[in-house]
Amino acid sequence: MKLKVLVVAGDGIGPEVTAEAVRILRSVAELGGYDFEFRDALIGGVAIKQHGSPLPESTLEAALESDAVLLGAVGGNEFNALPPDRRPEAGLLQLRQALGGFANLRPSFAWPSLSSNSPLRAEVVDGADILFVRELLGGLYFGEPRAWDREAGSAWNTMRYTRDEVIRVARVACELALTRQKKVTSVDKANVLEVSQLWRATVTEVATQYPDVTLEHQYVDACAMHLMNTPRNFDVVLTENLFGDILSDEAAVITGSLGMLPSATIGGQVNLYEPVHGSAPDIAGKGLANPLGAILTAAMLLRHSAKLEQDAQAVETSVRKVLEQGYRTADLVRGQPSKMVVSTQEMGKYVHQALNEIIDCRQAMHAV
Ligand code: NAD
Repeated sequence: MKLKVLVVAGDGIGPEVTAEAVRILRSVAELGGYDFEFRDALIGGVAIKQHGSPLPESTLEAALESDAVLLGAVGGNEFNALPPDRRPEAGLLQLRQALGGFANLRPSFAWPSLSSNSPLRAEVVDGADILFVRELLGGLYFGEPRAWDREAGSAWNTMRYTRDEVIRVARVACELALTRQKKVTSVDKANVLEVSQLWRATVTEVATQYPDVTLEHQYVDACAMHLMNTPRNFDVVLTENLFGDILSDEAAVITGSLGMLPSATIGGQVNLYEPVHGSAPDIAGKGLANPLGAILTAAMLLRHSAKLEQDAQAVETSVRKVLEQGYRTADLVRGQPSKMVVSTQEMGKYVHQALNEIIDCRQAMHAV
């Protein structure tokens, strides 16, 4: 197994959490005898400072030559005054567009040992296991025209989808539902938006090709409420770019911390893997960042790009074990004051140790 991974750690806590994810990938490669090659490149605020662009040409070229891109986070308060197209976040949007991945997978899972960390009652979140499939290349974030006419005092963005864009992401959601509980909840605002009416009609049509999948539709406002009231009722949630961005952050409440959420963007030339959280400037450089979202992102990379399902599961099991042992980064101690609070690096080290034990054990069993 040979895999070229471009690591773009980015800004804020990006480099801190990405270092732990790379440590895990290196360990999987070493223990499994795989040939993983890692290259580093700049994106976001650090790239603006060094190259004057949030996505330097060299980074884009290296990304397109890779088998997978692992990203940390971009953004920082010092760039807030820049216009949207020159900010660090613009580099990420350009990268997503260039790589072509249109289906952003965001699992939100209620880890049993973290249920008291969620502000929701344990009996509400226990057993929740949701996979968001967020369309990533259309909708308001990319629609034209877009502008801020300062003189006129008005600004506009365009929410636009084509039927083909909806068909391809709806297929991904239905295919993934077949590997899970076989239910898709499609989220839109079809009572108000024509784009959503197209969305709903097209998803309904695609779902007829998947008779084993149960399809339901929810309006986004109602879905925001149901996610908090009855998260266990969801399996795969399919939605457009903006709604998916908001709802998947909301679903962080189920896991207890934004720092726990991984993501993978598939369907394009090169898959892009990034934790859901941002650069968290409030905690950057303090060793407080939770690296588990980034580590679980590495597991998604093993699953979707390296096709190493057993190793992906080994990483996820290592995270579960470390949480069961009581280790917590600062964001995970709510309601659990007795837990052992550890730094970003220490958390990475414990997951690494647990992973080594699991893989050693697996290899010993194979040797028997
Ligand atoms: P954020 O996700 O960076 O932080 C929100 C809150 O969650 C903060 O209190 C932060 O401390 C906490 N948090 C986030 N990740 C954490 C982790 N791993 N461990 C512990 N706590 C964590 O969102 P924000 O504050 O709205 O944005 C900060 C910057 O990040 C902005 O510039 C924004 O544009 C950017 N951003 C980037 C991405 C990305 O790179 N994909 C995503 C969202 C926001």
